[in-house]
Amino acid sequence: METDVLVCGGGCAGLGAALAAARNGVKVVLVERAGFAGGIITAAGLPFFDGIAHKTSGRVVVKGIALELLSRLGVCPADATTIRPHNPMIPHVDRFKLLADELLVEQRDRLRVLFHSFACEATTRGDRIEEVRVANKAGLTAIRPKVVIDCTGDGDIGAWAGAPFEKATPLMPMTLHFRIGHVRKSPDLTRLCRESLVKAHANGKLKLFYGPGLMFHYADDEVYFHAIRVSGDATDPDDLTRAEMQGRADAWTMFETWKREVPGFEQSYFVGVFPYIGIRETRRILGPHVLTAEDIRQSRRFEDAVATGCWYLDIHPNSATPGAAQLVEGFQPEPYDIPYRSVLANRVSNLLVAGRCHSATREAASSTRVTVTAMALGQAAGTAAALAVERRTSPHELNGRDVREKLHQQHAGPILPN
Ligand SMILES: Cc1cc2nc3c(=O)[nH]c(=O)nc-3n(C[C@H](O)[C@H](O)[C@H](O)COP(=O)(O)OP(=O)(O)OC[C@H]3O[C@@H](n4cnc5c(N)ncnc54)[C@H](O)[C@@H]3O)c2cc1C
Repeated sequence: METDVLVCGGGCAGLGAALAAARNGVKVVLVERAGFAGGIITAAGLPFFDGIAHKTSGRVVVKGIALELLSRLGVCPADATTIRPHNPMIPHVDRFKLLADELLVEQRDRLRVLFHSFACEATTRGDRIEEVRVANKAGLTAIRPKVVIDCTGDGDIGAWAGAPFEKATPLMPMTLHFRIGHVRKSPDLTRLCRESLVKAHANGKLKLFYGPGLMFHYADDEVYFHAIRVSGDATDPDDLTRAEMQGRADAWTMFETWKREVPGFEQSYFVGVFPYIGIRETRRILGPHVLTAEDIRQSRRFEDAVATGCWYLDIHPNSATPGAAQLVEGFQPEPYDIPYRSVLANRVSNLLVAGRCHSATREAASSTRVTVTAMALGQAAGTAAALAVERRTSPHELNGRDVREKLHQQHAGPILPN
């Protein structure tokens, strides 16, 4: 199969990348391992659009596809300039799935979407990716793209193509989200749930946990939990398998513990876990600029900025943290630039990398990894890929200022003035 642009991974970044590339007129193939797009939002059940607006001012810092998605879900107007709270939630992650389908299908003349398809190998010739192999029900298919955008979150394509990468030890823990139905609300519910998890942890029934983050998001008697914490490396197949099993077991342990001990859970039932465990951190592919925490702390300006970040430095520890996600909340920056050079990959000239595996230090990526920033990086990468195809050049040879200009013409790109 031949294409102009191949996007691997249809999550937050991949959705932005595929839509941006197709809307800019080139032929695109999107391959996604799940049966739907949306990544962490739909696969791990995460309704937050963090990174859309600055914490203190509420000023919108990401427009483009992210704001379009949020407004089409009825959360804000299409031309919103401020959003409060700064971390809005979407009404239902399955509605997001449908919206992603609609937007992808709108581009069907140029965009071919392959769900249930896993990019499993990249072969190179010189400094270019020549072929990416995809496994699905048709067997193995070789795709020959002009440009590849790695939006796998784990930097699979970059790593297999020989781009340098970093991976921290230990990595941030993984989390499986779950829901419990028929719960009676009370002002003490969060405290009581927390106290019973502290006990379960102390007597060895739960190795780790955090929070619990407890939200009556879907109904007045149904709770959605952020509480599970499993250590491991999601790029190691054995670790990832163990993490899924541990996550499921911990969710059930929490449910049974609360049902036994917490008033309000007497009649409760387990609604279910979301389809995949959520992965916070694995490989970061290194490009010509590695975004650092110092860049973020100082809101350093870059001529080739293609996106704006604004989330705090958000590192989850591998320990139990009752009542919160971190022992101490990380630095909250002012809006900052993310340069084009940090969505490129060293040594591979036709590869762009967007989302949580883009070129950044561990600390910097703990801010840029949030959903909306990933979408903005995806849109920037998709736009750059289309521009490179149109100009018959490689993403490495493109000038980031041209990418920025193109994004601005399309009401996207960095919000900070040039
Ligand atoms: C548990 C958890 C809670 C979080 N909480 C928040 C929060 O509250 N707010 C917030 O803004 N951010 C949060 N984040 C961070 C944020 O959601 C992610 O970092 C963000 O989704 C990154 O976007 P992405 O596109 O890089 O990855 P993803 O959205 O994960 O997308 C990656 C996609 O690639 C696909 N894929 C992977 N490998 C392959 C392959 N080889 N072939 C084909 N497809 C592949 C996956 O199926 C997935 O769809 C959280 C993350 C986790 C794990």
